Amino acid sequence: LKALLVMGNWKMNGSLAANAKLLADLRTGLAEGVAEASAHFAVCVPAPYLAQVAEALKATEITWGAQDVSARDAGAYTGEVSAAMLKDFACTWVLVGHSERRSMHAEGDELVAEKAKAALIRGVTPVVCVGESLAERDAGQVHEVIAKQLAPVIALGAESLRQMVVAYEPVWAIGTGRTATPEQAQEVHAGIRQALSAAGAPDVKVLYGGSVKSSNAASLFAMPDIDGALVGGASLMADEFLRIGA
Ligand code: 13P
Repeated sequence: LKALLVMGNWKMNGSLAANAKLLADLRTGLAEGVAEASAHFAVCVPAPYLAQVAEALKATEITWGAQDVSARDAGAYTGEVSAAMLKDFACTWVLVGHSERRSMHAEGDELVAEKAKAALIRGVTPVVCVGESLAERDAGQVHEVIAKQLAPVIALGAESLRQMVVAYEPVWAIGTGRTATPEQAQEVHAGIRQALSAAGAPDVKVLYGGSVKSSNAASLFAMPDIDGALVGGASLMADEFLRIGA
């Protein structure tokens, strides 16, 4: 059985009160054994709640992280959050290049790779998100798009790559309830695996994201190159989230 990584992305949701309940429910659910022990759970939360989440999860096996990081180290970058700051709050993970940041905040492939590098330098594991739009899929450009997105990340070298996680999230499957079929996902994951292997990093975890829920997770995880999930909406409900890894 492979060691699954099930990672929640809360996106811009939550409040101190709502998080307290969700985190308590996660702790209880895990203690009660809702999910099998082979799945590792993590949550990527809005930066203002990192202190709350660190406190609530420090004595658990759930790890946490942020949803974005600055490529810069420190200085006059108003509104940015550095990798060192994430490390200060004991973040294990940080998402980089989520499609919502690529599309709404104009993040390009080079910047995403710079962010991944900045995270690595501070000992925070970057979860590099890639994925094609529906138009790109319809135009038969899936592999080309993913290869282009990954190129500057792969250029960071094998040693860096081996310390990363990659998440394949087809944009058309995010928040739409329209998940990729296991076969569609596997095809892309196999391509990503091939690229990572060629670059000397065959063991990098490759997560699938896009409308993952407990009812469709098992069939995705049955695919040889799907090592876990990056979960949006369903990560906001403790029971549903934990059942994804069950
Ligand atoms: P949904 O699970 O809500 O489709 O979101 C996927 C996602 O973007 C996770 O990063």
